[in-house]
Amino acid sequence: MRYISTRGQAPVLSFEEAMLTGLARDGGLYLPETIPQMTLDDIAALAGRPYEDIAFRVMRPFIGDAFTDADFTEIIAKAYATFTHAARAPLVQIGANHFLCELFHGPTLAFKDFAMQLIGQLFQASLARRGETITIVTATSGDTGAAAVEAFAGLDNVALFVLLPRGRVSEVQRRQMTTPTAANVHALSVDGHFDDCQALLKDMFNDFGFRDGVRLAGVNSINFARVLAQVVYYFSAATALGAPHRTVDFTVPTGNFGDIFAGYVARRMGLPVGRLVIATNQNDILHRTLQTGAHVKHGVTPSISPSMDIQVSSNFERALYYAYGEDSAAVAHEMQALSTEGGFTVSQGALEALRETYASGSASEAETSATIAAAHRSTGEILCPHSAVGVKVADEHLGSNPMVTLATAHPAKFPDAVEDATGLRPPLPNRLGNLYERPERVTEVANDLGAIQDLIRERIEH
Ligand SMILES: *Cc1c(COP(=O)(O)O)cnc(C)c1O
Repeated sequence: MRYISTRGQAPVLSFEEAMLTGLARDGGLYLPETIPQMTLDDIAALAGRPYEDIAFRVMRPFIGDAFTDADFTEIIAKAYATFTHAARAPLVQIGANHFLCELFHGPTLAFKDFAMQLIGQLFQASLARRGETITIVTATSGDTGAAAVEAFAGLDNVALFVLLPRGRVSEVQRRQMTTPTAANVHALSVDGHFDDCQALLKDMFNDFGFRDGVRLAGVNSINFARVLAQVVYYFSAATALGAPHRTVDFTVPTGNFGDIFAGYVARRMGLPVGRLVIATNQNDILHRTLQTGAHVKHGVTPSISPSMDIQVSSNFERALYYAYGEDSAAVAHEMQALSTEGGFTVSQGALEALRETYASGSASEAETSATIAAAHRSTGEILCPHSAVGVKVADEHLGSNPMVTLATAHPAKFPDAVEDATGLRPPLPNRLGNLYERPERVTEVANDLGAIQDLIRERIEH
């Protein structure tokens, strides 16, 4: 299996190389050259299997000869052993034909654990075999950083730097990143919002001297291995609801477009996915794009669903690549306009292609709160604000297919928003123990590429 860049100008890589590389050297994102197919029989055979089994069968064709079957089986087993629910991604019914897929039973209580726990294991195996040491820098809107810390803390051959937007993550999220004691973990609190953090990260990748000097690797969803891990729960959820004999719709609370793009990959592999509904908060660039074709950045407005406070949605580039008929020159051209002019208009053909796959909607702050309250009253389920954005938008898109809304985080990560909506303060699960009492360790930095690069170089020399 070979991996190519959405912009067409970067070296073609193996799965393992693409995983260790992160951003392509032409600024694009890696994708498999062809998407492996599963037959209806292959898909039918997944129904009722343990999650780990489904994970093996879905991901195996993408990884080529990077790992033996035995090693890959063991890696998957270790990755999900830390989850507290036997189903890993259980379904809960919340309406006549509407289901939540709970993705928050991992160690940091958000869906990011599904991919990060797996790539933590994949990186370890790969780096040990190659005898290499790397520096991982990750930008986070709150949950990626926490999941990365959990996955990479204490590893000998990895230094991890987390760029978090100061004052724009919840207290639980911040503490998950600042309280671990492992010496290889560095939380950097950036004076800026998530888009600033992600821009800094991309600038580091595009500075080849720095990139090669520190052996930079990335675990944001620009890394295809992360997207791949997220393809699995589309299969587990859909087959539990009758796929491949039934078509299933999904609604996905969306920021950087990684999670919903995984649904697109599942669909391309042959899973009967009907509509993929993009649910955004008031930072609704993707909803506006689907409605009008104009992909134009506005400012980022903080919300009660902070993990989706994003305007530059990296993985949308992958969606565009397919919408533009795999024309990497066209993608490179639009991405250039996005960075120099703040936006572009999606071509008519590409917009039609996007609308064949995706629908969209957004939720205001008041609608998000009202949805948390209404879901609690009618079903007893306590939604996190991101999942509530999803449920609100899903309710507007219910049809004859079963609808699955991805519940992306545990409500206890956002206790203030949940308490405001329901009057109940969700308790922190035991596994997070004394999070509120532990001392924090964080370095405040300006939104200044050179200064952050110097700090990273200095820290990894010790
Ligand atoms: C990261 C995150 C999202 C957005 O996911 P993307 O893959 O960036 O679109 C939604 N909800 C929560 C809780 C998250 O942590």
